[in-house]
Amino acid sequence: MEHVDTDDLWQLPVQQSPLGMAKVGLDGTLLAVNRTFAEMLGRTADELVRCRFQDITHPDDLHNDVTNFRRTLAGELDSYRARKRYFHADGHVVWADLSVFLMHHPNGAPQHFVTQILDITEQQAREEQLEAAREEVERERQMLETVFETVGVGLLLIGPDGRYLRMNRRHVEAMKMAHPNGHDSIAGQPGHIYSADGRTQLAAEDLPSYRAMQGEEFDGYTNWTGSDERTRRAYSISARTVRGPSGERLGAAVAYQEVTELMRAIQVKDDFVASVSHELRTPLTSVLGYLEILADNGSLPQDVRAQVQVVRRNALRLQSLVSDLLEVGEFAETGVSLQRESVDIARIAREAAEAAGPLAERAAVELTADVPDWLVAWVDEDRVRQVLDNLLSNGVKYSAAGDAVRLVLRQVGQAIEIEIRDTGMGIADDDLPHVFDRFYRGAIARSEQIAGTGLGLDIVRTIVEAHGGSITCDSVLDQGTTFRVCLPVGT
Ligand code: ADP
Repeated sequence: MEHVDTDDLWQLPVQQSPLGMAKVGLDGTLLAVNRTFAEMLGRTADELVRCRFQDITHPDDLHNDVTNFRRTLAGELDSYRARKRYFHADGHVVWADLSVFLMHHPNGAPQHFVTQILDITEQQAREEQLEAAREEVERERQMLETVFETVGVGLLLIGPDGRYLRMNRRHVEAMKMAHPNGHDSIAGQPGHIYSADGRTQLAAEDLPSYRAMQGEEFDGYTNWTGSDERTRRAYSISARTVRGPSGERLGAAVAYQEVTELMRAIQVKDDFVASVSHELRTPLTSVLGYLEILADNGSLPQDVRAQVQVVRRNALRLQSLVSDLLEVGEFAETGVSLQRESVDIARIAREAAEAAGPLAERAAVELTADVPDWLVAWVDEDRVRQVLDNLLSNGVKYSAAGDAVRLVLRQVGQAIEIEIRDTGMGIADDDLPHVFDRFYRGAIARSEQIAGTGLGLDIVRTIVEAHGGSITCDSVLDQGTTFRVCLPVGT
């Protein structure tokens, strides 16, 4: 218990203190207040003196304050400290940090309270703002967490060093199939992960997580996961780089969309097409053989021979369709096998232009070739011929009488460039990005019923790429189309 002459406390230093101070009677009446406290509540010291602290305290804090006050009076506490709210003269709330001491007479009887009051209104407002922001962030986090866990897509976040930072439940399931013996949580760990063909196991550098870690961004990268053919799953994978506010790379986000059903359906379709084409080949060969004999039969009347020719032409078309179908199936199954040798491409180009001559003549399309005498490259002769035949016949097929098709062959550095340009009907902008897709036929080809299967350019591109080359297509509707093939000269 302190025995101090408390009147001394109300000297000048108290009046000037940056801390609010009040002397409070045992019934709660304010006996004296300093200027800081009076200003804190927007009143004069005279107005405050003789008020009871109960009258200027926020009702929600009153119970606590009064309880502490009584317990101190009862001798249970020497002093107490509390946060409470006062009312300012203009009605607004003033937050205060209160330290309350009970002073005693020399004889030990309670004399009065001395209270120190620190205005913490601004600090309180800041804390409330901070708390509101924290709650907002937490709400946002919980919402994202829910989305992260419930989306039907496997999600993985990778740090810049390849370490796995986060993954959702779906991705955990996929990981179990790919790595039944566990995973080190770092990008690029090979497992039961196969390319779209379902057979080739992916090397570390081809794994989507590894590619994403390297900063690659991609969509529609298809993989199979799992070693058991019956239960394995196919995923279409996308990756994006994650950047911080100032553009620094924080890592990568990888999304795994399951496409097992779709991939199985594609497989069933491919198998179906392959087996139907296979079954058609033998009877067609036989039909063509007999048609050949019939066509050569001089004893048939002229009109019947003409009809046999029509049947034969159509049977030939059917045969070329079947062989295209078989070829596409074979490419998908085993890839293109190339018989490379040193070949004079100039000769092949001249022969291809010659072979397309009759077709162009019938269509009244002018066909010209600008080919050097000699240009050797390390290629598969039959496959390159196939490319040229396809592009030249398309050029003629999608042109009208009076149009022109031009074949230009030249060497550009270490590459051979084949350009096939026509002044035909051109390709609509909507169709252009798809012309190399399997079975894709342009709108005009369909509406004008121009014969075709939509396989030619798929085959052409597969062959060109197997040679390590590339093919592009530029076209303007009603003005014409240019295909440009680039093949490395090779060794
Ligand atoms: P097909 O000719 O059997 O339809 P392709 O794969 O050879 O199949 O071609 C795909 C589509 O690309 C065609 O249906 C056509 O719409 C378009 N196309 C190809 N070549 C040309 C061309 N030279 N001019 C205009 N359109 C073309």
